[in-house]
Amino acid sequence: MSELLLEVSGLKKYFPITGGFLGRKQGEVKAVDDVSFFVKKGETLGIVGESGCGKSTTGRLLMRLIEASDGKVIFEDKEITSMSKNELRKVRRDIQMVFQDPYASLNPRHSIEQILEEPLIVHGIGTKEERKKRVREMLEVVGLSSYHAKRYPHQFSGGQRQRIGIAKALMTKPKLIIADEPVSALDVSIQAQVLNLMKDIQKEFGLTYIFIAHDLGVVRHISDRVGVMYLGRLIELADSEELYENPKHPYTQALLSAVPIPDPDIRRETILIQGELPSPANPPSGCAFHTRCSQCMDICKTERPAERYLNGHYVACHLYNE
Ligand code: SF4
Repeated sequence: MSELLLEVSGLKKYFPITGGFLGRKQGEVKAVDDVSFFVKKGETLGIVGESGCGKSTTGRLLMRLIEASDGKVIFEDKEITSMSKNELRKVRRDIQMVFQDPYASLNPRHSIEQILEEPLIVHGIGTKEERKKRVREMLEVVGLSSYHAKRYPHQFSGGQRQRIGIAKALMTKPKLIIADEPVSALDVSIQAQVLNLMKDIQKEFGLTYIFIAHDLGVVRHISDRVGVMYLGRLIELADSEELYENPKHPYTQALLSAVPIPDPDIRRETILIQGELPSPANPPSGCAFHTRCSQCMDICKTERPAERYLNGHYVACHLYNE
């Protein structure tokens, strides 16, 4: 197995629900509930699920943009979850994020040069000249030109702004990029361009990606392995091809049945997921998917399915108890 870059074990994030006259805690939302996985150097791990499944919260927990309620995140043998602020600042050079809405993460009053320089200034990297040189280099890397450095975010299209978001993430020469729905806000034709750019950059700089998205079709083209989340839990994880050809969890099977196949000769029956997504503040007992699963058994309503590994294919479902 290739070297591990990141290891996540038992990660939890419970947000308190407060209310009433004294603002007392009345419950909690289990946004991420006991999630474990690893990421190998140089690979892309896709994480998919419906909105509210905890995938974006997981991404933020990995960088400690929010604090975990429990669990460990280990990056290159260093435990991020227990680091001092100073140590964390150093590690953040190596882990960067690309967000869904680049416009929101690009200060509209700053020129592209100022925006791209900022991470270097924050981390005290390079002289003014070196910083400007890197800005020009990174603009070229993402398919823009050095003259774009003097322009402002509103002067760019959505696709170009996402290229700038990617350039910003690359400025500190990170090892890991966590991309949270990086192409969801873009037109389909532009999505392919940005995905191809991300793939090229990954090869060129030997990057590792965690690619978070709600669309299984998008994730397939970039991921080596894919994990599926449902209501804060990781319910299946396997090599990309294995997951798409042989999905084991009924939720993944239903999600995949809705992804269009480009070959008109292949027909696939769409599996409808029954009912609404339950509230994460009040998730169903046992298997969280049991209220919507067409294969639900009695045990599913009371017992949380254990983690199973079937030839390296992780699945949490009682159908695989034997
Ligand atoms: Fe369906 Fe039961 Fe498997 Fe949950 S554990 S996905 S309810 S069969």
